[in-house]
Amino acid sequence: MTGIYVHIPFCLQKCNYCDFCSYPSMLSNADSYCDALAREAESYCGKNIFADTIYFGGGTPSILSSMQLGKVLDSIYKNFDISSNVEITIEANPGTVTNEKAKEFKTLGFNRVSLGAQSFCDKELSILGRIHTADDTEKCYDLLRDAGFENISLDLMYAIPGQNMQSLSSSASQLLNLSPEHISCYGLKIEEGTPFEKMLERGEITEKSDDEYADMYAFICNTLKEAGYSQYELSNFAKKGFESRHNTKYWLGDDYVGLGAAASSKLGSNRFTHIANLESYMKSFENEESYELSNEDEMSEFMFLSLRMTKSGASKEIFENRFGISIEKAFQEAIRKHTSNGMILDEGDRYILAPKAYYISNYVLSDFV
Ligand code: SF4
Repeated sequence: MTGIYVHIPFCLQKCNYCDFCSYPSMLSNADSYCDALAREAESYCGKNIFADTIYFGGGTPSILSSMQLGKVLDSIYKNFDISSNVEITIEANPGTVTNEKAKEFKTLGFNRVSLGAQSFCDKELSILGRIHTADDTEKCYDLLRDAGFENISLDLMYAIPGQNMQSLSSSASQLLNLSPEHISCYGLKIEEGTPFEKMLERGEITEKSDDEYADMYAFICNTLKEAGYSQYELSNFAKKGFESRHNTKYWLGDDYVGLGAAASSKLGSNRFTHIANLESYMKSFENEESYELSNEDEMSEFMFLSLRMTKSGASKEIFENRFGISIEKAFQEAIRKHTSNGMILDEGDRYILAPKAYYISNYVLSDFV
């Protein structure tokens, strides 16, 4: 089964750390953009693509009207074969969801919401350039629950400039009080071309050291585990049965179709990525970069992504069925090195990262690339 990703590149304002394809103050283009998304979905008509997950990401999909969201969803339903058991996620930001809107999301068929909480410390939210306060997040969460959402994910960010263990701990407690089904945790990295890069150069903010970064990550892993969440992926935690089905497709190397500016698709060994530009996409969604991965690249990608799944890891059987060679033969050196240093565990039918490797996962995984 395939996943469908829909990129909505509109936001109310640009956050200081953001290097995603998102445009503040261009919402007047949303109607034309949704028309383009519907046309792109139509281009898949007759291709018999069966999908069981749809994910509206961004950007801030929750700033679209229900008419705009409905138009895109209608076109997806008309042109793809959608499972009756589909997971349909919408990313939402606090401050963009009203009581009425939350109910409309439900009526449109969304059954999962990923809410960009990021922090429950107003000072940190302001440094990040978010449009909301912690209070807005809690109110938004309640609106979604009242509208009947039983599957809500909250984002929590660590290594925020100015954040310390005390404020991280306080954010984690407030988040856990809400008891979401799923939690995604991201360590902030200062990216090129963002306002944070300039603020760093001017000495207005500082970046966390590697040790502080690792300590914060360890704190989150332990705290969420103690609260009963399973760390099913390096950055993702869920109550039983609430793992993100859509994101799991990326980690397991399943196919996905990306609709919209900057969206990527994977169909077999083919990859397509649309230009990260709103106007170019609306003129011609065919204007894209495309390439085919070599067998070696696909094997590397399989290991790199599936080892991020802390429980299921890299399945020996799936790898061999897919590539006609065993993991041990394809990655003899990396497997020998990391099973002997205890960073990778041989679980019989699969390889998984040892918990101590979670903190240095990039170093371990890079040996498979
Ligand atoms: S809400 Fe998300 S996509 Fe929009 S500017 Fe902020 S970080 Fe970027």
